[in-house]
Amino acid sequence: MDFSTLCIHSGYKPDCTGSVSAPIYTSTAYAHPGVQQSTGYDYIRTQNPTRESVERCLAALEGGTNGFAFASGMAALACLLELFQPGDHFIVTADLYGGSIRLFNTVSRKNGLTYTEVDTGNLEAVEKAYRPATKAIYIETPSNPTMQITDLRAISEWAHAKNLKVIVDNTFLTPYFQKPLLLGADIVLHSGTKYLGGHNDLLAGILVTKEEEDTAKIKFLQNTIGAVLSPFDSWLLLRGLKTLPLRMERHAASALRIAKWLKQQPQVREVFYPGLEDSPRYAANVKQVSGFGGMISFEAESEAFARSVLSKLKLVLFAESLGGTESLLTYPLLQTHSDVPREEALAKGINERLLRLSVGLEAPEDIIADLEQAFAAVAQEA
Ligand SMILES: *Cc1c(COP(=O)(O)O)cnc(C)c1O
Repeated sequence: MDFSTLCIHSGYKPDCTGSVSAPIYTSTAYAHPGVQQSTGYDYIRTQNPTRESVERCLAALEGGTNGFAFASGMAALACLLELFQPGDHFIVTADLYGGSIRLFNTVSRKNGLTYTEVDTGNLEAVEKAYRPATKAIYIETPSNPTMQITDLRAISEWAHAKNLKVIVDNTFLTPYFQKPLLLGADIVLHSGTKYLGGHNDLLAGILVTKEEEDTAKIKFLQNTIGAVLSPFDSWLLLRGLKTLPLRMERHAASALRIAKWLKQQPQVREVFYPGLEDSPRYAANVKQVSGFGGMISFEAESEAFARSVLSKLKLVLFAESLGGTESLLTYPLLQTHSDVPREEALAKGINERLLRLSVGLEAPEDIIADLEQAFAAVAQEA
């Protein structure tokens, strides 16, 4: 079946009432037909039919075997890290989501895990970072916010020869544009808060597995730790997924148009959008994606310009987060990546001039008009 059909029909089939939309099962307990018998549901944390629907849907969309829904992306990552033992070492993409870096540097460091940050797009650098204790590679492609690309086929091949797990945070592109499990990864993670939910009104996290061993372990950990997605939020996520292909097409088409417009502005030094054909990472990316997503970062001519633009916008909102219907502009250095030590952030290209735009579903000409008036207002003030 086509991806769009899976978005609508996988995970839930009309029950005995014929309900077309998945019911929200809030029951905490499920009556047993007899001793040592179960309907398949016993207690809400372990599994409930609404969460099961969205978990099945995401497994189908990513081409995996099992999905797991959590209360947030960070809860999904924290649970995933429990697969590992004190002393285990990770190789991670250098400019990850700021919250992931914070978790790695604090909670998991305390638990004895160690990390080396490298440009995972550079296999030589990855090889250099390898140690006998290395157990996994954790990748974002494109990375956040500087849009570096990692060749998932090549890195998975290298990692599997060394018996490492390949974990991909697929939040930015979603399985509509990129399917890491089919490119060789073992586990996919999502912040469902972003494109999967898609409407800036839901907090959720997802893991998708394909190996039986990972599936069994994560099923145990999800139930044991308990940061699961609620029935209502499971339903909201399931509803968001039905329109994922339509939304992603529009996000990407608008983003390309806006990226091209930004490139022509004298106040913009550089535009990071992997869909621009003259982008240095275009060739590596195009081999593994079917579209380029809705995230653009750009470097303004000066810190003063970047800061002023944020207060001159009228339609685009100056806010964190991404992947929803509303366009949001962020200042990564002070927002999403504020916990990254300043020198490290600067070394990664997250500087005082960098802005990140999550292109929403408004008409692209209205987004451009808003940026245009904000740029003009800043120029007038200067
Ligand atoms: C937002 C985000 C996360 C964290 O997810 P939450 O749902 O906010 O907990 C992880 N990775 C990426 C790429 C994100 O954008």
